[in-house]
Amino acid sequence: MKKDLHPEYFSDASVSCVCGEKYTTGATQKEIRVEVCSKCHPFYTGEQRIVDTEGRVERLRRRYGQK
Ligand SMILES: [Zn+2]
Repeated sequence: MKKDLHPEYFSDASVSCVCGEKYTTGATQKEIRVEVCSKCHPFYTGEQRIVDTEGRVERLRRRYGQK
């Protein structure tokens, strides 16, 4: 990596998420808007995983139930 091509770095960039969560982080932009953050991302909340698991279990139940 060429250091002279590195963009300006803000150590106190403000990040605002669509869920309302706001926090500061290190970034190359002074202000950042994101659609998911660690507070509402499915990976962190586990919601998506639960929905996914239930769908698979339901499919298996249907498959074995038809036998
Ligand atoms: Zn969020």
